[in-house]
Amino acid sequence: MTSAIRHYINGKLVAGNGERTSAVFNPATGEQSSTVTLASLADVNQAVAAARTASGRWGETPALLRARILNRFLRIAEDRIEELAALITSEHGKTLSDAKGEIQRGLEVVEFATGAPQLLKGEVSENVGTRVDSFAVRQPLGVVAGITPFNFPAMVPMWMFPVALACGNTFILKPSERDPSASLLIAQWLTEAGLPEGVFNVVQGDKEAVDALLSHPDVEAISFVGSTPIARYIYATATSSGKRCQALGGAKNHMVVMPDADLDQAVDALMGAAYGSAGERCMAISVAVPVGEKTADALISKLEPKIRALKIGSGLNVDSEMGPLITKQHLDKVRAYIDSGVAEGAKLVIDGRDFRSNGGGYFIGGSLFDHVTTDMKIYKEEIFGPVLAIVRSPDYATAARMINDHEFGNGTAIFTRNGDVAREFAHRIRVGMVGVNVPIPVPMAFNSFGGWKASLFGDHHMHGPEGVRFYTRLKTVTSRWPTSIAQGAEFVMPTMR
Ligand code: NAD
Repeated sequence: MTSAIRHYINGKLVAGNGERTSAVFNPATGEQSSTVTLASLADVNQAVAAARTASGRWGETPALLRARILNRFLRIAEDRIEELAALITSEHGKTLSDAKGEIQRGLEVVEFATGAPQLLKGEVSENVGTRVDSFAVRQPLGVVAGITPFNFPAMVPMWMFPVALACGNTFILKPSERDPSASLLIAQWLTEAGLPEGVFNVVQGDKEAVDALLSHPDVEAISFVGSTPIARYIYATATSSGKRCQALGGAKNHMVVMPDADLDQAVDALMGAAYGSAGERCMAISVAVPVGEKTADALISKLEPKIRALKIGSGLNVDSEMGPLITKQHLDKVRAYIDSGVAEGAKLVIDGRDFRSNGGGYFIGGSLFDHVTTDMKIYKEEIFGPVLAIVRSPDYATAARMINDHEFGNGTAIFTRNGDVAREFAHRIRVGMVGVNVPIPVPMAFNSFGGWKASLFGDHHMHGPEGVRFYTRLKTVTSRWPTSIAQGAEFVMPTMR
C-alpha cells in the first residue's frame, strides 16, 4: 500500500498535522488500496491562510490572464483524461467510459469559465442623472470552499472551482474521503497550467474539516453537494455565520411514460438512467411512472430481459455496463432497502441481491420492483443504488401530482409523443431540471444545474450564469465629475435630476 493520500496546500502536497486517517477501498475487489489523511483544524487553517494570501493578487489578475491558465488546464486534462479516469474507476468503481464522461462534463464547465472576460462584463448606464453615470461590476468574494460527494469525484468539483477561479476567488476543495485521489491530480494539473500557489487547495477530511471550513471567518462562501441531511446542516450553519451558501442535496427522480411514448426508446433510456453508475447518480431515474396498466405491463416486459442481461463487473473491464457500489456499508444499505420493499408488499420482479461476483467487491445486480406505492420507504427515500421502482398511475394528472408531492425535486422526465402533455409537464412540474424524451436532463455548462425542494438549499444553482452570480458580489458605482461636484451638501434622499 502506498503512503497516505495527502492535502494540497500552496502548490504542494502536504502531509498535514492530523493524526486521523480513513481507509480507501477498491470497490471492485473490496481490498483497501490506500489511506487518506483527515485534516485537523490546523490543516484547514493552513489552507485558508494560503488561499487568503493568494487571494489579493489573484483577484486583481485580469480575467483574461486567469482564463488563459484555465485554458492550459483544459488542454492538460484533455490530453491525460485516461489517467484521471483510471484513478476515478479505481476508487469509485464506475466504468472507465462513465468516468471519462464525467470528466468531459466537468471540462465543459472549464470551457465555459474560460469566457471569464465576457462573463464578468458589467452594466453601464450613462446619464442616469444630468452628467451622472452609473456602472455595475461583479467582484470576487475572496476565499471560497467546495465540499463534494463521492459519486462524481471530478465533475462536481469542476461544477465549482472553474467558475470560482475565473471570477477571481481562491478555492479550497474538501473532496469525499471515499475517493480522494482525483482532487490531487486536478490540483497538480492546475499548478502545471500556471495557477499561482495558494489559489487552489485541497484539504482531505471528514466532518472535522467541513466544520472548520464552516466556522472559519475568512471563508466567504460554501458550495456543497451531497445528501440532503448534510446539505441542510451545511446551509443552516454556513448562513447563520453570514456566509453565502449553495447546498445541493439528494434526489428521487421520476420518469413518466405516457401510453403514446416510443416504448423502446423509453426502455433504453430507463436502462441507462436507472442502472448506469449502479444508480449512484443524483440524476438517476429511480421511479418509473407508466400511465395506464397496458403501458406498465408492456414497459416491464421489455425492461425485464434487459435488466437480467446487464453486464456487471469491474469498471476496468471494457465490457462492463455497471460496476460495484462504493463501500460495503452502502451495499448493505441498498440490500436493506430491497428487504424493506419486499416487507412492505411491493412485487420484486428482479432481485439484485442474488448477484454473485467472482472476485469479491461491493457488487449487486439490477433490481426491479413493481406495484410500488407512494407510502413505501423505497418510494419516499433515496436508495442511491441500481433499484428501479415502478409506480403505476391511472392517468397523467395522478403522475404529475405524485412528483409534485415528493420531498425531492432534482430531476424528472416525461416520455411522450404529445407536445401538449409535454409542455404542460415542463411548465407546471415542481422540479428543477426537466427532460422531455431525455431521461437525465443535466444542463450543459453554460446553463445552470440545480434542483428544487429538498434537493437544493440556497438561492443559486451551480455553474453557468448562476455560478457567476454565486461567486461574485455586485457593486454599483454612481459617479459625477467635477463641474457639478462643488454645490454644497444635500440632506434629502438623492434623486436623479
Ligand atoms: P454525503 O452527504 O455523505 O457526503 C458529502 C460530503 O459531505 C463529503 O465530502 C463528506 O465528507 C461530507 N460529510 C459527510 N458527513 C458529514 C457531516 N456529518 N458533517 C459535515 N460534512 C459531512 O454524500 P455522499 O454519500 O458522498 O454522496 C451521495 C449523495 O450526494 C446522494 O444523496 C446524492 O443524491 C447527492 N448528490 C447530489 C447531487 C446534486 O447535484 N443534487 C450531485 C451528486 C450527489
